[in-house]
Amino acid sequence: MATIDTRLQTVKGRIAKACAQAGRDVQSVTLLAVSKTQDAQAVREAAERGQADFGENYVQEALDKIAALAPLRARLRWHLIGPLQSNKTRLVAEAFDWVHTVDRLKIAQRLAEQRPPQLAPLQVCLQVNVSGEASKSGVAPAELPALAHAVAALPRLQLRGLMAIPEPAHDPAAQRAPHRLLATLLAELRAQGLALDTLSMGMSADLEAAVAEGATIVRVGTALFGERSRAAPG
Ligand SMILES: *Cc1c(COP(=O)(O)O)cnc(C)c1O
Repeated sequence: MATIDTRLQTVKGRIAKACAQAGRDVQSVTLLAVSKTQDAQAVREAAERGQADFGENYVQEALDKIAALAPLRARLRWHLIGPLQSNKTRLVAEAFDWVHTVDRLKIAQRLAEQRPPQLAPLQVCLQVNVSGEASKSGVAPAELPALAHAVAALPRLQLRGLMAIPEPAHDPAAQRAPHRLLATLLAELRAQGLALDTLSMGMSADLEAAVAEGATIVRVGTALFGERSRAAPG
């Protein structure tokens, strides 16, 4: 079985190659290691090899890992990439650095109220539904501008950009289409005066397509940690 070290090098190599093909600086893409269902030891091993950004889907599981790895807290960045219910916003506002899955103003307002003032602003992406009927989460593209302007005006949050989880597709053109849509939506918001710099898109199977369309954060789980050993809860 490949070690985390080998897998990190392999994934970084894929990102570097995709950047080279797109004429992009490799520094413009951040690798977010998706550690859902992995134990704290797996995160520690990746962190020891220089990985700083970790993505989690389930709030309680993440809080347990953040606590277990408290001595590393200052050099890690924890990103929530799973659905966020309003009864969990306080825990998230207190413990995470980033939230990628804001798709309602009410959730953003709660995060803004609950973000402790002594912490840096919570970094926020709006999750956009780029797959139409096929997906239940994410704001519809038509409703995105109003939500983005409202979230950008909230205190203690910094709206950074957009996130999407497209329907899986196999051929490269089909993989690129939803990523291109997300990039277009970001460009439109920037043209409206919002200072946004982040496109969170691309996973183990389609990170090349996402980088080709401008991803600045790719969220990679399986290619780094192997197949997840247990089914995702909830
Ligand atoms: C699990 C997950 C990923 C990582 O998926 P892999 O296919 O394992 O790379 C990325 N983003 C989100 C939102 C996820 O839930």
